[in-house]
Order: sequence, then C-alpha cells, then structure tokens
Amino acid sequence: MVEHLSRKVGQEFINEKENFEALCSVIGKVQDRYAEILAIRGRPNFGNRLNNQRLDELVPQVMQEVHQFLGVEKPVKDPKLSLFWLPSAVYRAGKDGCLVADLGIAGSLIAGITRVIAFNSSGTEILIGGALSIGVGTLAAGASFASNLKDSWKSSNYDPWGEKITIGDKRESVAVQILSHEYTHHLQRQIWGISRMLDTFWLAEGHARGVQQHVSHSFAEAAENPAYELLTLKMILPELKKAYVGACKSIGVRPAASLMNSRGGDRVLDPRVAMGHKTRGIGLAVFSIVEEKGGLDVYKDALKGDFSFLSK
Ligand SMILES: [Zn+2]
Repeated sequence: MVEHLSRKVGQEFINEKENFEALCSVIGKVQDRYAEILAIRGRPNFGNRLNNQRLDELVPQVMQEVHQFLGVEKPVKDPKLSLFWLPSAVYRAGKDGCLVADLGIAGSLIAGITRVIAFNSSGTEILIGGALSIGVGTLAAGASFASNLKDSWKSSNYDPWGEKITIGDKRESVAVQILSHEYTHHLQRQIWGISRMLDTFWLAEGHARGVQQHVSHSFAEAAENPAYELLTLKMILPELKKAYVGACKSIGVRPAASLMNSRGGDRVLDPRVAMGHKTRGIGLAVFSIVEEKGGLDVYKDALKGDFSFLSK
C-alpha cells in the first residue's frame, strides 16, 4: 500500500471534480477566517516570550490537545525539546506579528550562518531547504532565511532520529502552533516509523498541518485570542492555493479570481514561495478535502496508518 502513495496520488485525488470543488470551498472558508482576524483592530497579542519553566507547563497542554484530537489513548514516549537560539539583532516582530529580517545583508549573513548550524540537527522540516542552501552557500542560505523569516518557523523542526522538537519562536501563541505541528510529526514517527514518514513526506506534512490548524484554533478560542492561529492561517492559505493552482493547471481551468485575489493569498503567485509549498500544499489539500466531505476522523485514521480515504 505504502509504495503507491506518491505525491502524484494526492495530485490526482485533488483533480477529481468533487474533490476539486471541496477544495474551493475550503479555501473560501480559510480565506474568510483570515480576513476576519485581520479586520480586528489593534495589534495581535502574541503573548510573552517563553522561558523553560513556562515551556514545561505549555508542552503537556499542547500534547493533551493533540492526543484528544487524534484519539491517542496509550501513553507515548515524550519527545526531547529545545528552544532555538536566534540573535535578536537579526529580526524584529513585523506588524502582523511575524518576524521580519531587520539588518539587510548583514543580518542575512548572520542568519544564514545560524541556519547552516541548524542544518546539523537534520530535522525533516529543513532537510530539503538545507540540502539546497548548503549547496549554494551561506549567502544564499542567509538570503533565503531572511526572506522566510517572516514565517517565523524556519528554525523549528522535528528531528525523527533524535526524536527532538526544536522551537524557533519563543512567543507563546506562536510556540503553540509550532508545537502542535512538530508534536504530530513525533506521533507519526512513533506510529508510522521513520521510513514511512519520509517516504510519504507530503502526507506527513498535510497531516501535521491539519492537526496544527485545529489545535491552534482551539487554543485561539480558549484564550479568546486569534494570535494563536494567525500564523497558521497565513501559512496554510498559500499552501492550499498552491495546490489549487496546480489542480487548475492539470484539469485546464482558469483559477477563480475570488480565490486568488484576496489578502494573504497573494504569495501563491510569488515565484519566491518556499519550495516546500507544493509538497505541503498537496498533502494539506487532500486532508482538507476529506475533512470537508467526511469530518475529522481522517486525522485519526491517518495516524493509525489507514490512508484508504485516498482510494475512495
Ligand atoms: Zn512538518
């Protein structure tokens, strides 16, 4: 079964008429939610910076939320955790709360060196970008790091060999979003094993992104603070749109303006979008479509290794 689950399977799934329509509906909803949050006046409250003590309190809460969402009942081995160090001179919080590079080329260089150091931890999140960036050198890595800093995710990763989560952003609301995603990778690693995780990277990513979306949303609701899901919405919107544009291309239809021309979605047409977008987009789109048609069980099924929803 596993060997048939290439990304192409996901692409073909999305291209089916009924699934394509479900994807359009999902993008419309996510877009509305994102616009609703952006319309709230005032600067979002991203929360305090985490120290180790606060992290120790927060991690079990996120894990519990993920377990509940995924129906995990048996105890699971805890992952190792660390907060990634990034020189604060290199970045500042942007207006929407995401991090932006602040010192131009000098900052990029420092960030690039920092990023190359981060590659040594061999996390899955950065494996693809890592191989490329090391190939073209520190300056390019620095530039790419700086341009991607606004995602404030780049130094966060899960290392399936060391079973370790690294959190690259210390603001509490953002750390929750990162943790819910990376901890889902940890569960995949425990249940699927490393080789299946890496063989079906697109599914692993889509699954983790979906869990992240729901867990972040429940934290946002509980705290009555949309900052807990803002970065997530900002990330998934271009990823879903990337999958949508790909599907439009393969079935030969023009992308609908209403799904392309809204705030937050413009990055999908930006040639500089992170190269992981295509893989993540297809995985996320597949999970979102199945969820739209049949509800949340798809996330539980997938964790058990049941991907039969792809052939239905
Ligand atoms: Zn991931």
